[in-house]
Amino acid sequence: MVNIESKKYDIRYVAIYIRKSRAESMEDLEKHRMLLTDLCRKNNFKYVEYMEVGTSDSIDMRPKISKLLKEVEEGVYDAVCVVEYDRLGRGDLGEQDRIKKAFQKSDTLIITPDKIYDLNNDIDDTYADLKGFFARQEYKMITKRLRQGKKIGARRGQWTNGIPPFPYVYQRYHGKYNEKGLVVDDERYKVYRSMIELALNGASPRKIAENLNNKKVFTLKGNYWSAVTIQRLLMDETHLGKIISNKSQGDGHKNKRPNAKDVKIFPKSEWVIVENCHEPVKTQEEHEKIIQLINDRNLIGKKARHQTYVFSGLIKCERCGHSHTFYIKRDKCYMKPCWYINPLGEKCRNEGILVSVIEDMILTEIAKYKDGFLMDTEQEDNSFGMLQILIEEKEKLLSKQKKALSLINDAYEMGDYSREEWLERKKKREFEINDTANEIYELHKSTNSNQQLSKAEKMKALSNFFDHITATTDNASRNELYRTILESIIWYKNGDDIKIKINFK
Ligand SMILES: [Zn+2]
Repeated sequence: MVNIESKKYDIRYVAIYIRKSRAESMEDLEKHRMLLTDLCRKNNFKYVEYMEVGTSDSIDMRPKISKLLKEVEEGVYDAVCVVEYDRLGRGDLGEQDRIKKAFQKSDTLIITPDKIYDLNNDIDDTYADLKGFFARQEYKMITKRLRQGKKIGARRGQWTNGIPPFPYVYQRYHGKYNEKGLVVDDERYKVYRSMIELALNGASPRKIAENLNNKKVFTLKGNYWSAVTIQRLLMDETHLGKIISNKSQGDGHKNKRPNAKDVKIFPKSEWVIVENCHEPVKTQEEHEKIIQLINDRNLIGKKARHQTYVFSGLIKCERCGHSHTFYIKRDKCYMKPCWYINPLGEKCRNEGILVSVIEDMILTEIAKYKDGFLMDTEQEDNSFGMLQILIEEKEKLLSKQKKALSLINDAYEMGDYSREEWLERKKKREFEINDTANEIYELHKSTNSNQQLSKAEKMKALSNFFDHITATTDNASRNELYRTILESIIWYKNGDDIKIKINFK
């Protein structure tokens, strides 16, 4: 096998083309692949794979070679690696010519495990004398490099995707250097590997996040890790040493420019995967096992989410504002304890209850509300005023909490706290502020709907509700019926201490 001293001759970006001939099996194909990827790794080439399973000689019948030839014409690669020269094509003369022209025009080499072909060589345009050829090639490569733009950059495994994913940094870390590529930050690497080890042992992304947060290992911006961030990191193929582009087209950003195109997601067959771009930090095996574990877990989650229960989405936890969920056991429906767990892994602990019990309580409250409503027809609706008072109180609380936060920041600047203490206190305050802001938002929402529905309309909705609620048995319909008269039900239970409050429309 030739060993091409790629630094001396400056071959860096190549495509591998693998094609099955009629007599060969898929196993042969895999052997060819190993041979060529090996050649790339030994010579430190960044490479893209093109594998053709069809056996046709005609270029038009082979979609991968058409795509590859187009990129060769554009000058994307320094060389194309094949097991034998004639893998590229042995069709009619016209096709041979098409292939030859593509390589000649763009000064692209053809590398096989034992020969290098330069189709621009004047002496022999299929087989070049290595020494003479490389001297000339060196000059050509320099001029070629200047012609190549950014689009090509991405295809060549340069990092063009913004902030590199943890634990990578762009281009340089201490002694390490990868031109326009990624290198591993050794400190972050330890944290990253601890995530991988936990995931392989079956820990969920949420548990991994909690583990780090409790150890006071925060994100680069000093925030708590979230399950979503961890999951994204665990699934990222960048960490296998690859750079993947052409996954989608257009602007998927939330605040996109008004005339931006919608995002188009391409199928995996269209992706451009450049291998061997940077140091991998997990193995393919580890990656596949983690993906399997995550998929299994998501499936269980989806199944559970699918059901609609009578009070799905209607009962909010008094302590944290999250919706309670439900389950069925021995033909009875239960409301679960609040599921919410904060980023430190602390459970909310608001208790659950048998649904028939809470439904009785809710129906009693609705009946009371309706009676009060009937007696009250002459008077002005007072609930609007009550809500205004509540909002004012909450707003006062919010400004107090904000003040407390700024005091904490001041104290940190004065050197009263260590960084750790400050982060911890800051987080706590930010939670509170977030909660209060959410409550105010919910309250505003109920005042709006309160103003929108006239008294007559409310009365009509209430009558309709009582006319139908006993006869309706289907969960989804019952849920809709409740939604015609109420916005949410606020729930609190701690042992015998039970409170419910209904936000009517
Ligand atoms: Zn809760």
